[in-house]
Formats: sequence, C-alpha cells, structure tokens
Amino acid sequence: MKGKATILIVDDTQYNLKILSNMLSNHGYVVFTASSGIEAIALTKECSPNLILLDIKMPNMDGYQVCRILKKDIVTQHIPIIFISAVENVEEKVEAFSIGGVDFINKPFSLIEVLARVETHLRVSSLQAQLLEQTKLLESQNIVLKEQLSNLIEIDWNLYAEIQKAIELEQMELFYQPIVNFQTNKISGFEALIRWQHPERGLISPIHFIETIESTDLIHPVGQWVIKTACKQLLSWQTEFPNFADLTMSVNVSTKQISDFSLVAYIREILGKYKIRPSCLKLEITESAVMGDRDRTMQILHQLKEIEVQFCIDDFGTGYSSLRRLTDFPIDILKIDRSFIHNENWVIVKAIGSLAISLGKEIVVEGIETLEQLNILKELFHLCLPSSYGQGYLYAKPLDCLSASQFLEKN
Ligand code: C2E
Ligand code: MG
Ligand code: MG
Repeated sequence: MKGKATILIVDDTQYNLKILSNMLSNHGYVVFTASSGIEAIALTKECSPNLILLDIKMPNMDGYQVCRILKKDIVTQHIPIIFISAVENVEEKVEAFSIGGVDFINKPFSLIEVLARVETHLRVSSLQAQLLEQTKLLESQNIVLKEQLSNLIEIDWNLYAEIQKAIELEQMELFYQPIVNFQTNKISGFEALIRWQHPERGLISPIHFIETIESTDLIHPVGQWVIKTACKQLLSWQTEFPNFADLTMSVNVSTKQISDFSLVAYIREILGKYKIRPSCLKLEITESAVMGDRDRTMQILHQLKEIEVQFCIDDFGTGYSSLRRLTDFPIDILKIDRSFIHNENWVIVKAIGSLAISLGKEIVVEGIETLEQLNILKELFHLCLPSSYGQGYLYAKPLDCLSASQFLEKN
C-alpha cells in the first residue's frame, strides 16, 4: 500500500500542512493538502484519497462538519479519517469517533506517532476492502449455486432413474438420417440420432429425454456411447461399401460435452481404435453451446480442429443467432434450421446460406419434406450446389442401422 497510497491533509495552519506533508511524502505517500473544509470536500471527491488527516478547529467549516458530509456520501464514506486536535478533551474524542472518525491525534504531534497511525489505518482499510471483495465474490458464487440448484430441482428425477436403467439394459439405440449433396444427389453422410427402445412404450424420441440427459451427469456416459457407436458404424459402412469410403458421420454434442477437456482425449481414442479419418467425423453443436464458457470451448474446438475433426453449427437461426460466431469459431458447416424451410422463409434461407458459403463453409438445409422445397432450394443455391447439402423426410426419416445399410446399398 505504502508508496502508492494517497493521503489528504486538511489543516488551516500552513505550518502543520507543510511538516506533515513533507514527512509523509518522504515516506513514499502521495500527499494532497487542503486548508479549508470546502476545499477538503472538493479534493476528496476529485482525488479519492486512501486516508484523510483532518484538523478539527478550522474557520467556517470545522472538521466535524467535513467528516459528516463525507460520511453521508456513498462515494467518500469508506475513506478512513483521522482527526487532529489541539485540545486534549474526552468529549471531543467521543464526538470524533461517533461521527465516523477512526482515530485521533493530539497537537503538538509526534511525527513517528502520526506515521504509525497512518500505516495502521491504511492496513486496516485495505483489509476491509479485501473482505468486501471476498464477500461480493461469495455472494455471486452463492447466486450461481442457487441457480444451479434451481436447475437441479427442475430435473425429473423419476425420468432420470428410468434413463439410468435404460442405459444399463442397453435400450438406447442410434438411428441414422442421410445427408445428401445437392449437386450429385448422393449420400455424403449420416447424422446419428438417439432413440430409446422402450419395452412397453416402444420407440421414444429424444425430445422426451435428451434434456434430462444433457442437464445431468448422464451426458458423459451417453455422450461417449453415442460417439463410439456412431464411429463403429461408420467404419463398418465405409468398409462394406467401397463407393462410400468417404462417408461422414455427424454426431450431436451438448454444451457440457464441448466444455469438457476429456472429450478431446476420448475422440482421439475412438478415432484411433476404429481407424477413422478425423475429417469424416462431424460434431454438431448448437449456437447456445458456444455461448457457455467461451474460452474453454474455444480451446477444445481448436484442439479437435488440430486433428481435423469437423464442426457444424446445428439449428442455425433459432438460438442466440450471431453471424459473428461463423467467423469467431472454427466452424466448417452451417445447418440451417428446419423452421425456415417449414415456414418458407426463402429470403432468410438464401441470405444465411449465401453468407456461409461466401465465408468458405458448407451448408446443410434441414427438414426438407417435399420435392417442391428441394427444387426451390436447388434454385436458390444453384451457384454453389457442390457445397450445399440437404437432410429431411423427403430423402429419408432417421433409419435404424439395418434400414440405413439398405438405403446406402440402393443409393
Ligand atoms: P437435431 O440435431 O436438429 O436433429 C434433427 C431433428 O430433426 C431430428 O429429430 C430429426 O428426426 C428431425 N428431422 C429430420 N428431418 C426432418 C424433417 O424433414 N421434418 C421434420 N419435421 N423433422 C425432421 P430427433 O431425432 O427427434 O432429434 C431431436 C434433437 O435431439 C436433435 O435435433 C438433437 O438436438 C437431439 N439429439 C438427438 N440425438 C442426440 C444425441 O445423440 N446427443 C445429443 N446431445 N442430442 C441429440
Ligand atoms: Mg443435429
Ligand atoms: Mg438440427
């Protein structure tokens, strides 16, 4: 603190100002002086000193009045004030403390005593500031914890337990939906989509359970299982169908997964185990996933990018849409959300798609259900058909593994 701390000395006697000021400057403090109450208040607001030495007896406005004014102002009330007085009077001292002074020095003062008191109060005040910071930090942590707790409370724990059991009983299954190139009409890859094969309720769509998985610890085992199963399946198709040696696999990853460094190691392990070219694996993340812990996510994306894994922004246009994300993040593909196709917002589809293409990305248009929609899209993107892809019920619904194999065979 010393060497940087600023001290304001207020005294109407020039001699006192001079000796105090010299002594404190010589000890490394930055010193300001004021010879009246009015001047003291103005200087305090302007320079925000770390401590004030304040004479009590001054004409016009005495030290008590100055102190009261400073203690009322939210900006200046934290500054410690040490009173200086010529009179050795108990009532006066009591008064000084009662209006917020921290200490009292008698004239004629000993310079050593002044120095010792100044140092002590600066230390106390610095500790108080640290304490305040700590309290603020704890309060904000408390808010985060409360939020997390309220998120937890919204979790359907019955469903959680059921899913846990379903995982044990291997009731989760991957379906695969083809992604088709606009130019060649050939399948370029599949998107892996999870399903729950329930013994009584039949096939359950992820919309009924994926949120519970993604917002709990279940995402780690399930996420890993999806990556492993999808990669294993990809290897089997690439080997079985030589025409599809470049087939790709798109896998959805959640916010939690993409901010966990162990994802990188796991993907490396799986790619190595199944000898899959990393560029054949495409990780689909949503816009909100990259809104989380930005720095961390960025590092993970870049580590995966280094080994040439591809990234795709999923459902683009629905979340916290920011075109900046297209240049900020190492994204290779942009999936235009299916709601734009459903609502026939062709101008938006064209604008988003053209921008992505001009930035060197590929595009996938989701949710193509009719031939008419496909024809419009091919017309919109007729100048960039090789980089444009479609996905939707028109080509195929998500298919179980066997049906997907048959679909590949026919394509
Ligand atoms: P998504 O990644 O955007 O997947 C596309 C969704 O659109 C799929 O829904 C698909 O069945 C559906 N779809 C495809 N074509 C059409 C179409 O022409 N018309 C209509 N109306 N819908 C179409 P699905 O399989 O129910 O998946 C819903 C969401 O669940 C996925 O959206 C994805 O966010 C999430 N999800 C699915 N599998 C996984 C997974 O393994 N991990 C994670 N974290 N999320 C997953
Ligand atoms: Mg997806
Ligand atoms: Mg999508």
